[in-house]
Amino acid sequence: MKKSKAPARRPAGPWYRRGLQFQCTQCGRCCGGAPGYIWMTPAEVRTAAEAVGLHVLDFCSMYLAEYPQGFSLREMANGDCCLLQGGRCSIYAVRPAQCRTWPFWPSNLASKASWGEAASRCPGIGRGRLWTLDEIAAQRRRKEV
Ligand code: SF4
Ligand code: SF4
Repeated sequence: MKKSKAPARRPAGPWYRRGLQFQCTQCGRCCGGAPGYIWMTPAEVRTAAEAVGLHVLDFCSMYLAEYPQGFSLREMANGDCCLLQGGRCSIYAVRPAQCRTWPFWPSNLASKASWGEAASRCPGIGRGRLWTLDEIAAQRRRKEV
């Protein structure tokens, strides 16, 4: 009897199933440059205000801009986030989820090419700690970007 041809094997899981290397060098490059939005939830605003020793209303008027979609951190004239000081995030320990989950955003994880494109802008990609598939999935769940 003629043997039927085995179906081609497809890899189980996404292209990054063996994990991805990333360790932030805190170069600050992703906190400036081209215009963008850094969305903050009310809880993140309260935490950040406390971290910099401001009343939440003062924090809002100094650092946030309101849009129909929500509140985003203001940018300086050169495109830097208003919380970037001396090339470092001044609220690094309590930075918003959008910043905390970089570079594991769905848009970057969509393909090897998009990951490579993100790596061309972020020197932390491809070095240091290996993030497992489960850890990457957890980061993805924290923020959809
Ligand atoms: S560009 Fe990458 S390495 Fe630099 S601060 Fe941002 S996440 Fe960290
Ligand atoms: S909050 Fe901090 S980590 Fe996020 S963009 Fe601003 S300076 Fe960068």
